[in-house]
Amino acid sequence: MDRINKVFGFGELALHVLKDVSLEVREGEFVSIMGPSGSGKSTLMNIIGTLDRPTAGGYFLQGEAVHALSEKRLAELRNEAIGFVFQHFFLLPRSNALANVELPLIYGGKGRAERQEIARQALDRVGLSAKYRAMPNQLSGGEKQRVAIARAISTKPRFILADEPTGALDTATSAQIMRLFRDLNGDGTTVIMITHEQEIAEWADRIVRIRDGRIESDEPVAKREAKEVAG
Ligand code: ATP
Ligand code: MG
Repeated sequence: MDRINKVFGFGELALHVLKDVSLEVREGEFVSIMGPSGSGKSTLMNIIGTLDRPTAGGYFLQGEAVHALSEKRLAELRNEAIGFVFQHFFLLPRSNALANVELPLIYGGKGRAERQEIARQALDRVGLSAKYRAMPNQLSGGEKQRVAIARAISTKPRFILADEPTGALDTATSAQIMRLFRDLNGDGTTVIMITHEQEIAEWADRIVRIRDGRIESDEPVAKREAKEVAG
């Protein structure tokens, strides 16, 4: 993305949230985005995820000029290419784990048997083979997040976008989720993750820091080997 700007509102109430943000994420990278509350992280993530449009600036996703795409093509691209993970999981409370994971596949137009098979595989992938029929309120926070990750990967996206995925989890559970992200990244999935915690951010290969709507620093993570041995 090149010189992305985002302004909310207009006139005297205009809020310039992103200021000439240029960022390139290559396929297969694992990038953390850090920065103070209100610095524009979620706004940037929403633009990366095509959930929101920049006020100005160009953005390419898998070679497609996102800023020029129709809403229809944008929705297609989002559904086939991106899996979203959020702090508060957003599971359907009255649907079991399997049904939650099946959800994005319904939009993909797959039949029931095939959907269930893919959903089971995704739950197996996140280590929840024993919880297909569990309801969200019967799952721990870490298990709920793993269901949410299974849902995000059910469409086999090339990108996972995660906004504070460990924000509601304790340290040990957070590390489990990070191991899962590393694992998915090892399979070639590009991961872009927002976090407040340095320790979580260091699971990535690269940390981008945002302050007041601008990129303040963009640096590779050192000491990865040490971390993996420790983990
Ligand atoms: P946090 O760490 O608290 O999640 P953040 O870095 O994700 O913060 P953003 O959610 O990107 O911050 O918000 C950046 C600024 O933009 C804030 O001042 C916020 O109030 C404002 N903002 C975000 N979304 C909108 C919107 N839809 N309309 C108006 N202002 C918005
Ligand atoms: Mg945010």
